[in-house]
Amino acid sequence: MRLGREETRRRASYLAGHRKLWLRDMTTQEIDRRHAERFPSARRLDRSEELASASVMWLVGVAPEARHLPAVIDGCCPECDNSGKVWGSWVIDAGSDWSEEGYRACWACQTGGGAA
Ligand SMILES: [Zn+2]
Repeated sequence: MRLGREETRRRASYLAGHRKLWLRDMTTQEIDRRHAERFPSARRLDRSEELASASVMWLVGVAPEARHLPAVIDGCCPECDNSGKVWGSWVIDAGSDWSEEGYRACWACQTGGGAA
């Protein structure tokens, strides 16, 4: 209540972005420092996530505006240096060697939708 809806959603987006990188051991000191400033108590953050999960599952569901919160990285993206794109290759036909390569949206900072 004290933070308000918009700030709570903003923090949830940063939390999702941090977790996305953390799962791949890609957080930087800058990103970890901002995360620790935003969530100084790990115990309190754990408890908040438990209560949020319980309220989503059993009580109120998710507001339409909050269903697709983006995962936001608070700092320079360690995957693409904030260019928003990464070089990649992908298989076109699994039965042959046909593949393509080129730039695609950065998986870390350009895709939404919570933790990886
Ligand atoms: Zn990126």
